[in-house]
Amino acid sequence: MIMAQSSIEWTEMTWNPTTGCDKLSAGCKFCYAEVMTRRLKAMGLEKYSNGFDITIHENELETPYTWKKSRMVFVNSMSDLFHNDVPVEFIQKVFKVIKENPQHVFQILTKRADVLLEYDNKGLLEWTHNIWMGVSVESEKFMERIALLQQTHARTKFLSCEPLIGPLPRMNLKGIDWAIVGGESGRTPRPMQKEWVEDITQQRKLGICLTVRSI
Ligand code: SF4
Repeated sequence: MIMAQSSIEWTEMTWNPTTGCDKLSAGCKFCYAEVMTRRLKAMGLEKYSNGFDITIHENELETPYTWKKSRMVFVNSMSDLFHNDVPVEFIQKVFKVIKENPQHVFQILTKRADVLLEYDNKGLLEWTHNIWMGVSVESEKFMERIALLQQTHARTKFLSCEPLIGPLPRMNLKGIDWAIVGGESGRTPRPMQKEWVEDITQQRKLGICLTVRSI
């Protein structure tokens, strides 16, 4: 088990009950999780022996119960909980762990907003107060994820506009509580334009909190 103190500015811990993923959209190009997985597998970590294939880690379901101090926890920094290969029954187990650990806040972030909404529409997800549900929106092309998130019953909703690789004009931010904006990292990052961030900052006046990571 990796006790994951996080260097990500907007969280304190990472918790990965699943690992692995498949690239889905433009923002996945330099996926941090994929690079890290390769590294951790090469280091011989059993948890990453399947490489970047979706892998369920039932044993990780115990981990949050061992954290006594209240924490902000990013769920699945190394995966996407709503990947099609993650059984909904396992997602429900993750939500149960979250429910039974109200002392922590769990930030779940997905690019698979369609799967998220499908499960929510079927009444398969129990939204407790300590879940912050977010979708990644890297450019205008993927803004429909916002609308899908807005239709869910998650109590706190957020956007990760990171890596921001295009402008996000005229977003409908109704019901969105928080947004993270950041540029791409890696050796050959696609540049983020200052104007795109300024535009989001203007839209922020609609009432959301905004965390800008790098320009
Ligand atoms: S959805 Fe996230 S974890 Fe999956 S490939 Fe894309 S960036 Fe990586």
